[in-house]
Amino acid sequence: MTIDGMNASSMKKIFCSSCGCIVGLDGNLVSVKSKLGKDVECMRCRNARISRDIDSMNEHFEGIPEEACSEF
Ligand SMILES: [Zn+2]
Repeated sequence: MTIDGMNASSMKKIFCSSCGCIVGLDGNLVSVKSKLGKDVECMRCRNARISRDIDSMNEHFEGIPEEACSEF
């Protein structure tokens, strides 16, 4: 096995499901994600999605009236 072959087996080129760019990701990570049926994203879209999730979570908790909390 050549060094090039080893590199090719550890890194996989994938299409980001969000922005469509081609990114090199760890092959194990890609196979795990596809086994779980999850979309494979580039790091930029992944980070953007995570910060969006945190924002919507914050909005959710800020939306709860204070009176509802004091009842407990
Ligand atoms: Zn992307």
